Amino acid sequence: MIANRSELESRLKLTENERKWFDSPSSLPLLISDQFEKLINPDDPSDPIRRQFVPDVRENIKIRSADPLAEVSHSVTGRLIHRYEHRAALLTTDRCFAYCRHCFRRRFTGLDSGPISDDEIMKAASYLKEHREVYEVLLTGGDMFTLSNDRLEKLFDALKSAREDLVLRLCTRAVASCPSRFDDSLMSIIEKYNHGGPFLLLTQFNHPVELNEESIGAVRKFLSLSIPAFNQSVLLKGVNDDADTLEELCNKLLYNRIKPYYLFQCDLVEGTEHLRVSVEKGLELEKELRKRVSGLAMPQYTIDLPEGGGKVILTTDYLEGRDGDMLVFSTPDGQKRRYPID
Ligand code: SF4
Repeated sequence: MIANRSELESRLKLTENERKWFDSPSSLPLLISDQFEKLINPDDPSDPIRRQFVPDVRENIKIRSADPLAEVSHSVTGRLIHRYEHRAALLTTDRCFAYCRHCFRRRFTGLDSGPISDDEIMKAASYLKEHREVYEVLLTGGDMFTLSNDRLEKLFDALKSAREDLVLRLCTRAVASCPSRFDDSLMSIIEKYNHGGPFLLLTQFNHPVELNEESIGAVRKFLSLSIPAFNQSVLLKGVNDDADTLEELCNKLLYNRIKPYYLFQCDLVEGTEHLRVSVEKGLELEKELRKRVSGLAMPQYTIDLPEGGGKVILTTDYLEGRDGDMLVFSTPDGQKRRYPID
């Protein structure tokens, strides 16, 4: 594990921008788990894992928002965000096993709020009991699996007691950052509460090297409990902003029974400028990827709009227009096809 400058310097020769971060560090702490540390090639300053976890002074370019999705104004208890009518997100903790430099919730992540308290769990459960319009809850943070087993049991128990019908999304990067966390004792708790509304596993794999024997093994433990897995990647400069990497990632996910669900445009959050990919380039990648992978392996390229505007799907528009009673399309290969309107 790497948690400070000397540990980082003993592992990597820092670039100038990486060194300068320590002179004026941003609020998101440095923490790289053993699992991610061993994936970094120390001789490659452009290594895709390094780019995601080693801090950089450019994080101090503050031209964006601290809370681009307007989560604070949609908070209904200390930890529960109710932004969409039928879904809510519960911030179970601010801790993670490794802090991603592209984290969109850096207003909260890795600061001082810590694990969710009994009181905060009960407030969230009672809100959900009253608000039957909520069908799904995202258990997020931070990373929910940094919580102790005892706290997880309290959380599951309170939510299942309040609403047996809720679909609970287990949002975690820990299958990649700390796969050993998913030992028999934790999995038996998940199995115990795997009744009523289903658990769904929501992972974040951004590069194919993150899918290895250990991380795939951790995901399989959920699959063996009939908990399906969906992946949410973030499009990141120098990590996965090329069609070959995305193609390999999406095919590897599908092969390992993880549905590529979203490919997110990096949110407009401060500190991520050097990792952002333009929407124009993102659309080109989406078009190329769609030519290369099957529909099942294709994630939805998505922007979460600022000021809590919600998610919109971005895709190439294949409908070019009308010609009389015919619609004119371009094929993914650039040819023209006509299709009757009625
Ligand atoms: S695991 Fe999630 S919450 Fe934690 S730093 Fe990464 S993106 Fe942020």
